[in-house]
Amino acid sequence: LSHKSTSGINPLMRVEGLCKRYQQGEALAVNQVSFTLQPGEILALLGPSGCGKTTTLRMLAGFEHPESGRIFLHGQDVTELPPQKRHIGIVFQDYALFPHMSLLRNVTFAMRHVPTHQQEQKAMEWLELVGLAAYAKRHPHELSGGQQQRVALARTLAAEPELVLLDEPFSNLDAALRESTRKEMRALFKKAGTSVILVTHDQAEAMTFADKVGVMQQGKLIQLDTPQQVYQHPATAFVAKFLGHTNLLQGLAQGNQAQTPLGAINLSSSVEGEVHLSLRPEDLTLSASDDPAAARVVDREFRGHDYLYVLEQDGLQYCAITPSHNYFEIGSHVAIQSLRQASVLPSSNH
Ligand code: ATP
Repeated sequence: LSHKSTSGINPLMRVEGLCKRYQQGEALAVNQVSFTLQPGEILALLGPSGCGKTTTLRMLAGFEHPESGRIFLHGQDVTELPPQKRHIGIVFQDYALFPHMSLLRNVTFAMRHVPTHQQEQKAMEWLELVGLAAYAKRHPHELSGGQQQRVALARTLAAEPELVLLDEPFSNLDAALRESTRKEMRALFKKAGTSVILVTHDQAEAMTFADKVGVMQQGKLIQLDTPQQVYQHPATAFVAKFLGHTNLLQGLAQGNQAQTPLGAINLSSSVEGEVHLSLRPEDLTLSASDDPAAARVVDREFRGHDYLYVLEQDGLQYCAITPSHNYFEIGSHVAIQSLRQASVLPSSNH
């Protein structure tokens, strides 16, 4: 499985109709999941707790056997291969370090491909990357959970696999460290041309870290596309809601416009008849209004860089996000305007 055997056209991994059921008679934990992963691509599997993300990852790694479906690496069927024969780097949430070894030894252990006399120096570089070079002589029990997680990452990276599977790898890190580690890791993977599949329930993490986001719901992969596409053109109401706040509206469409309770709104595509729309709160603007029939501010959340408003108009609720300097009192009236086109949700899936 050498990096050089891949051409840009052949996917690194192809997954076809993967299914997994833990117990006879129970629902499928993973239901017909199919996707391809290109060399160097970073994919995030995103979804709520229990939707089948970890089970999917465990099947890709070879720790779980699928009930049906196939997994191909470089076109070779690896569905029946044990984990160690798949040459995949794995960092699971509970991935244990060797307790009796120093951090440095934990990392050099993964470096059999590197000449012995270079191992320590290289291992130090990996530890440097995760910000733990100063602790190289310590043992795992002398570290916090987040630090242990970073050593596990360094150890996996040190093996220089062409595909890395990450299960919530940043979960033990505090907000600031999570953001910087995420950035550095992404840059590192991109530089090395490493493909990555990341499992997370954090939509911000999925969107900032990955080239493609696969949204899962009850075992199924609902939508797989770029972060921009899944955010701006969600395939279903579930996807729209899972990726952030949204306004789900009904309307009557004619061409590129729909009549909705918020007035006429432009659409992302041309349709006729009854439509279901998703409109992001940051795409709405608010302006103070004297009209008692205008929307009323019922709640307001200060979020630092912006306010999240909850508004009520004609018995329906809406949310809008405005920059912090746009301030409206609770109880005051505002006119709601849509700046952007609303995305049309396929009517069978709302
Ligand atoms: P989380 O984010 O909470 O880790 P997940 O999306 O990774 O969730 P999975 O862990 O893949 O979800 O679980 C999918 C479904 O399979 C769940 O309903 C879960 O209860 C079930 N499940 C997972 N592992 C097992 C197991 N070892 N035995 C039986 N059922 C299991």
